Amino acid sequence: MAVVPDLQPYIGRFAPSPTGPLHLGSLYTALASFLQARSQQGLWRLRIDDLDTPRNRPGAVDSILTTLEAFGLHWDGAVAHQSQQLDYYQQALDQLAQKQRVYPCTCSRKDLAGPYPGTCRTKTCLPTSPYALRIKTDAHTLCFEDALQGTVCQNLAEHGDFILQRKDQIIAYQFAVVLDDELQQVNHVLRGYDLLECTPRQIFLQQQLGLSTPQYLHVPIIVDGQGYKLSKQTLATAVEVRHASAVLFGLLGLLRQNPPQALQGAPVTELLSWAVAHWNPRLLKACPAISLPA
Ligand code: GLU
Ligand code: ZN
Repeated sequence: MAVVPDLQPYIGRFAPSPTGPLHLGSLYTALASFLQARSQQGLWRLRIDDLDTPRNRPGAVDSILTTLEAFGLHWDGAVAHQSQQLDYYQQALDQLAQKQRVYPCTCSRKDLAGPYPGTCRTKTCLPTSPYALRIKTDAHTLCFEDALQGTVCQNLAEHGDFILQRKDQIIAYQFAVVLDDELQQVNHVLRGYDLLECTPRQIFLQQQLGLSTPQYLHVPIIVDGQGYKLSKQTLATAVEVRHASAVLFGLLGLLRQNPPQALQGAPVTELLSWAVAHWNPRLLKACPAISLPA
């Protein structure tokens, strides 16, 4: 059988939320997705996931861009912002509403524990109080092939009918991400393992909207000595741009790429070209988390 060359260029992305400066955990994912894209001669796009406005922090976008630049992680094209795509999300919502796939829900968080039981599915009148919009799901098992984790399956009933638009009108992450990736023509999503359990819901949405499904690769997340994910909540400190070379060398170690000792202290451009040339995500094996050395 003739080998059909893959004519679609690789298009990857990094999509930080501007909730604060980049910490080691987010830079780790950024670096992995950058290396994967560049090793495939692909494009690497940048998107600011700024829909959850109450969580946005002033100055965070500038700080994220400066940090990526300092680490030599240069992106392709203009920086995209979710906040500039509200019309697009609305159109997609309308499309699903027309197909009677969405319904309003007035349940409060404390009414609900566990997967949403579909309480509001049968309501016939539009509520007079603020409501969320949920998508109708069914209890089928959705499987996909993760490039690192292998076959991943999840029954959609695990989450039930999930929210596309919150009560405060904010478009939910699960919905936005699917449309954002489509808008940016992203065909490869490399991100942290913590988002693996979201992927079946996102694939379900792609199917509902008639969109193509990107190839997924979920890398381990970095955890601290106690096993907690590095995040603003665990007070992970911002990465030190002054020590970019040392931080990058450390990150390549955490990505299990075994950078040669001779490269210690090398300029970031040199470290990155070595890393692109030698990038092998398989070395990460299929594991959920990598712990920081004590
Ligand atoms: N903005 C999301 C986050 O920072 C990433 C979304 C994604 O990669 O799908 O967790
Ligand atoms: Zn409800």
